[in-house]
Amino acid sequence: MEITHLGSGSRGNSALLQSDESKVLVDCGFSLKQINSRLSRIGVKGEDIDAIVLSHHHSDHSKSAARASRLWDARLYSNLETAMRLGLRPIEDVRTFSGLERLQVGPDLSILPVPVPHDDADNVAIIASNGGGRRAAIVTDLGEVTVELRRHLEGCEHISIEANYDYERLMNGPYPPVLKRRISGRGGHLSNSQTAELLGDIIHPNLSSVVLCHLSEKNNAPHLAESEVLMEIGEDFSGELSISQQEGPEFSHWLGQIENEKIKNNA
Ligand SMILES: [Zn+2]
Ligand SMILES: [Zn+2]
Repeated sequence: MEITHLGSGSRGNSALLQSDESKVLVDCGFSLKQINSRLSRIGVKGEDIDAIVLSHHHSDHSKSAARASRLWDARLYSNLETAMRLGLRPIEDVRTFSGLERLQVGPDLSILPVPVPHDDADNVAIIASNGGGRRAAIVTDLGEVTVELRRHLEGCEHISIEANYDYERLMNGPYPPVLKRRISGRGGHLSNSQTAELLGDIIHPNLSSVVLCHLSEKNNAPHLAESEVLMEIGEDFSGELSISQQEGPEFSHWLGQIENEKIKNNA
């Protein structure tokens, strides 16, 4: 399985999962034009996409999902709350799923949606498995790590996880107190230190790649996120730590392969 972030941050998120016979987008939070141009940089056409799986309804994750699904004839998946919030009709527009329901989203790719706490949204983390049962995770937009999520992340060979804010920067930054409380609360986002602590807890010898994503441009910086995580996992981690920023795609990860593959900028 190959994992490529087309870009990640508050202005849009989308990641492409590819296995031998499947191509699946997790979230589709850019304009259709942007999604197409980002896919074309890695030689993928919209029509090649088998399915689009939505984590939740916020527009930085869902923006062009319904249109792309119709245009490309790619099956759209979301939970019921997300479908309702986006005005999508179950069955006609979207295949709805329940938390922890395993979904066969491509010929050799399945997905397990794991519910996570986030604002007024019914958000899920995505655990993807290929035919051989090897797993990768994409986890964004949650204020707190649950016992259940932790359990499903154990054993994943690739983990993409948000490191949204640096606590000091958020607290000393320009946001009004109510927004600071919301971001750092149970329904907000994970801070660098929350993510570092989680990774420190679940690290195992087969974890070959970690991508930090959904970094806040105001309340974080790549070097802060990276150093906080490395401080926690550094000695035990022999894989590669990368950061996915708003303008992607920059690299792809193959499951089980430590070094990422840089994407040439031919835009
Ligand atoms: Zn988001
Ligand atoms: Zn969100």
